[in-house]
Amino acid sequence: MIAEVIINSSVKKLDKTFDYNIPIELKDKIKIGSRVFVPFGKNKSPEEGIVISIKENTEYKVRDIAAIQEEMGINEFKINLAKNMSKRYFCNIYDCIKLMLPPGTTSKEINNRIKEKTINLVSLKKDFEEINYEIEIEKIKSEKQIRILNFLNQNGQATISEIEMFTGASRSIVKTLEKNGYLEILEEEIVRNPFINKNIERDKKLNLTDEQKIAFKTIQKSIDDKKYTEALLYGVTGSGKTEVYLQLIDKVLENGKSAIILVPEISLTPQMVDRFIARFGEEKIAVLHSKLSVGERYDQWKKIEKNEAKIIIGARSAIFAPVKDIGLIIIDEEHDLSYKSETTPRYNAKDIAKIIAKQYNIPLILGSATPDLTTYYMAKNKEIDLLKLSKRANNSCLPKVEIVDLRQELANGNRSMISAELYSAIKENLENRRQTILFLNRRGFSTFIMCRNCGYTVKCKNCNISMTYHRKDNKLKCHYCGNEENVVTICPECKSDKIRYFGTGTQKLESEINKIFPEARTIRMDIDTVTKKNSHEIILNKFKKENIDILIGTQMVVKGHHFPNVTLVGVIAADSSLNIDDFRASERTFNILTQVAGRAGRENLPGKVIIQTYNPDNFSIQYAKDQNYDLFYDTEINLREQLKYPPFCDIIMFVISGKYEQEVKEISNKIYKNLEKKLDIEKCLLTRPTPSPIDKIKNNYRWRIIIKCRLDADIVEIINNTLNEYYEMNYKDSRVIVDINPTNML
Ligand code: ADP
Ligand code: ZN
Ligand code: ZN
Repeated sequence: MIAEVIINSSVKKLDKTFDYNIPIELKDKIKIGSRVFVPFGKNKSPEEGIVISIKENTEYKVRDIAAIQEEMGINEFKINLAKNMSKRYFCNIYDCIKLMLPPGTTSKEINNRIKEKTINLVSLKKDFEEINYEIEIEKIKSEKQIRILNFLNQNGQATISEIEMFTGASRSIVKTLEKNGYLEILEEEIVRNPFINKNIERDKKLNLTDEQKIAFKTIQKSIDDKKYTEALLYGVTGSGKTEVYLQLIDKVLENGKSAIILVPEISLTPQMVDRFIARFGEEKIAVLHSKLSVGERYDQWKKIEKNEAKIIIGARSAIFAPVKDIGLIIIDEEHDLSYKSETTPRYNAKDIAKIIAKQYNIPLILGSATPDLTTYYMAKNKEIDLLKLSKRANNSCLPKVEIVDLRQELANGNRSMISAELYSAIKENLENRRQTILFLNRRGFSTFIMCRNCGYTVKCKNCNISMTYHRKDNKLKCHYCGNEENVVTICPECKSDKIRYFGTGTQKLESEINKIFPEARTIRMDIDTVTKKNSHEIILNKFKKENIDILIGTQMVVKGHHFPNVTLVGVIAADSSLNIDDFRASERTFNILTQVAGRAGRENLPGKVIIQTYNPDNFSIQYAKDQNYDLFYDTEINLREQLKYPPFCDIIMFVISGKYEQEVKEISNKIYKNLEKKLDIEKCLLTRPTPSPIDKIKNNYRWRIIIKCRLDADIVEIINNTLNEYYEMNYKDSRVIVDINPTNML
């Protein structure tokens, strides 16, 4: 038999299969999805690869497969998925397969793999009666040896270090006893535990509200009928979506199956995981996200593969976890942009979830308070089910939202970041010992530095964007490449000293708040303060448990957290997400404002939200004020239709980048001409190549070409052909990526 093997490599030329003979001794072991080592080219050491199909014959003269690795949990379905992904997302098959391999196993070095974490447990090998006899007849004389044997007789088993600690005998004595046949030392796997919160009280099912019941029953029916269905569970924050998930998962577990729950990376806080632990207990749950160490992720992966974990909670890539017998997939906060990968392979986890749900005939639930416009459009067109939860489950009311016009504030002579209205609301909250969240979607201190004399601005030398001032280390930082520079005081262009700092960030906001309210205790949460593994949780726990009055933060503070004592939320500048060069600017603004507002007054205390803005009349801000998604949707969907944006078409973005601007431009033009020839201009809108809005990142010039059309099989074929022609041109210093419906258009 012949195996078609794909080699572990991102090199475009190696993105094809190579035939190998399956030697007799491996005949029964090798299947589709087996990970093998094969001789390759003139290389001395064998290369790693994956068997992607098996056939009878080959026209080539082939060599033998050298060895097979242990089971990797990749089945034929996953291999086909990887093949399809590589076509659809314009990348190598192996890039997709990597997502499906256990964490830490993708490195080429065979020895360099993550081992299960083990401990050596020592126990008696001989019957203690016999040992005792030997002690009596003085066959065993050493006092330390006797101490160890007695210790183990009493305690069953122990690690070597425990023995050392409790008996004062050294490791070498344990080894001697092992050699003489008295002890055995067994390696035992221990599971590294990422659940930092222990002793979570178990809770019970709640009685569902009528709306929750309808949602539950609709999906329960597809579970019972073993049918693929897709439903949008659309309900405001606090409407009880999670309770519906929990009860459906319970159903799935009763049937002996498993469930995957995807959540945005950022909301993978213990608060979310705790609710699942409270309902189902820790043993059945696996958690997968990037803040875990590789070892921890590996253990979680194994727990899933062994079918011990039945509930998998994770960020985007958890959709590829080696789940046994999947029964349900839930994507919570389905509008969240983090479900789309911005690195190769540029997949959308929602698409993958759909493929898996179809394959295994199971339901897929998309949950959100502010659904992705495309999802809601599908629901309205009855392409997917629409399940609505219109009221908050515990009857707490939605917060009162006010908009403050910052232009008016300026006219009144208030130049600070805090309007008069927000000021008095914070003050009142401090007096009542209630908590406040202030949200500003920009980190750092000042967002740009400009010379008032000549207009010079400080930009990163690698990336053509403004540098942000960070006061703590008194440095200018580029948020794109991490480049740091010293602060300038004299303008390098005109030599004047009229260098000024403009714009605001969370650091500046915190220092301003500390000035205005010296008595208030504040804490800040943004990328700069959550650098360590658990800092996220630590900050949120501090805010919850210690007497912190004000939490100041970026995006991170808005999602999925539950703070009963927060009654005021202030949005410092609602405009920051509005003025970006992206067709989703309004959608993003609406989502974020609605979510921020959802943080206020979740229990019996009424909440208040103050939104500061320079564009008080903008519809996304107005509708966010009323928390009216439906009106927002109606306005925005009309605009999308007129301007031909998703869901009315797909956006296909080519990004051409490289060291030499001339070469980047040349490639862009070639690709454009190629596309112009191949595409049906009736059906596609093809734009000429232009420099990207950020035209240089990390010293690479960037150009882009955009196609607006429906991405169908023909278009996919044309793009793949165009890319292949580009690869054949063998440019060494440039690269081309194709991104479908990118979440970042810059
Ligand atoms: P969501 O996921 O939509 O934000 P949750 O499921 O977190 O909503 O529910 C919000 C609050 O309401 C939680 O404290 C939850 O325990 C409570 N809750 C949910 N469903 C019910 C119910 N049927 N009866 C009483 N309380 C409920
Ligand atoms: Zn100047
Ligand atoms: Zn930079």
